[in-house]
Amino acid sequence: MVEASVLPLEAPSPAHICPFDQACSYLEQAAKELQLDPGLLAVLSHPRKVVTVSVPVKLDSGEVQVLAGHRVQHSDVLGPYKGGIRYHPAVTLREVSALAMLMTWKCALLGIPYGGAKGGIALDPTRYSTGELERITRRYTSELIKDIGPEVDIPAPDMGTSAREMAWIMDTYSVNVGHAVPGVVTGKPISIGGSRGREQATGRGVMIVVREALAARGQSLVGARIAIQGFGNVGSAAALLLHEAGAKIIAVSTGSGGLFSEKGLDIPALKNYAAANRKQISGFAQGTPITNTELLTLPCDVLIPAALENQITEENAHQVQASIVAEAANAPVTLMAHKELEARGVTVLPDILTNAGGVVVSYLEWVQGLSYLFWDEQRVNREMEALMVNAYQQVIKQSQKRQVPLRLAAYTLGVGRIAQALSDRGLYP
Ligand code: NAD
Repeated sequence: MVEASVLPLEAPSPAHICPFDQACSYLEQAAKELQLDPGLLAVLSHPRKVVTVSVPVKLDSGEVQVLAGHRVQHSDVLGPYKGGIRYHPAVTLREVSALAMLMTWKCALLGIPYGGAKGGIALDPTRYSTGELERITRRYTSELIKDIGPEVDIPAPDMGTSAREMAWIMDTYSVNVGHAVPGVVTGKPISIGGSRGREQATGRGVMIVVREALAARGQSLVGARIAIQGFGNVGSAAALLLHEAGAKIIAVSTGSGGLFSEKGLDIPALKNYAAANRKQISGFAQGTPITNTELLTLPCDVLIPAALENQITEENAHQVQASIVAEAANAPVTLMAHKELEARGVTVLPDILTNAGGVVVSYLEWVQGLSYLFWDEQRVNREMEALMVNAYQQVIKQSQKRQVPLRLAAYTLGVGRIAQALSDRGLYP
């Protein structure tokens, strides 16, 4: 196992499965398949830059709390670093490092000229007021001011953050440099240069990849039974678009539990309900309560984990009844669970493909900003769909050519492109 010596040791992640070790294992599998030079593998196994800053915040009560904020920049061999900022209690430096590495392969797979990065603060955003969250976000941004920028590193929303946080980052950065710099973030509000279609983009990408995978099996989205874990930005957008395409969303959940309905949930009504109830779904008029554990093992055509990593593990993989698992979240299926699912003939649609719709539209937002020309939503969706379908087809072709599962196929494409670029650029002595 390659060990990134720049990362300090931390307590094990909640599921005792280190996301960074898993990311390195996938990288090693791809390197073996590609017969990559060991020196290149060593470079790719290490993030280029790891930053941890103290984020002191004065709470509304007057108490001062100091939080740890991370930003990990994995590779900028293709262009500026790109990656979300996560606010969640389980954030660790190793998790952020793993997610930064995934971003590198994801951008390369989609043919986007970005490198991979990720940021995060270990906090539960539901326990802070809006004012406190704004102060945290602004201080975190100001601590990272020299490490981000439209040509350096461009943050975007991830778990626990949204367009609101991106607007605070954009404003803090702009005030510090003395002029407006909308290109420092993507996923920002449309009023300050955000792209139409960005909010739903990751969910739309999930819908497209699921649609293509069902079609490859001779099935249609119409009437397909789908269960979705997570009803946040990604899960709720995927649920709505799949519902609109005729699929039956039989279950969804949030961190505090889920709802099941054999005849399919009324997703537009549920989305409105969640919006009016602090993103929670309990108490909704339709469906019976189920736990997150139960949701993952429901009989269905497609299971979409759209919350956290390490949700399908060696403990529950044998109970999964879906024939397709679409990784809308990053790394929701562990390495061991992936082996078990593949052995049982379950198709696992890998995260670096399935949830790439977000970074694709982030890229389109950046392009629109740089050209000062903004497109309507149809054009954004059309351009995104073309890139997603193209990437899906490349992964299928690579899987058939190399006789490897879809994840390894996607990795060989992403890692192979970065390795080629790195070797063309050469190692600066
Ligand atoms: P979000 O914060 O908007 O929503 C997360 C959802 O997961 C919420 O419904 C929350 O209640 C639920 N959740 C939290 N803890 C849970 C638990 N222990 N069990 C079950 N559900 C739980 O986040 P998001 O932006 O929708 O991101 C979800 C996943 O998608 C993450 O893995 C993220 O990295 C990935 N992703 C997001 C984007 C994006 O554009 N937002 C892009 C690519 C990938």
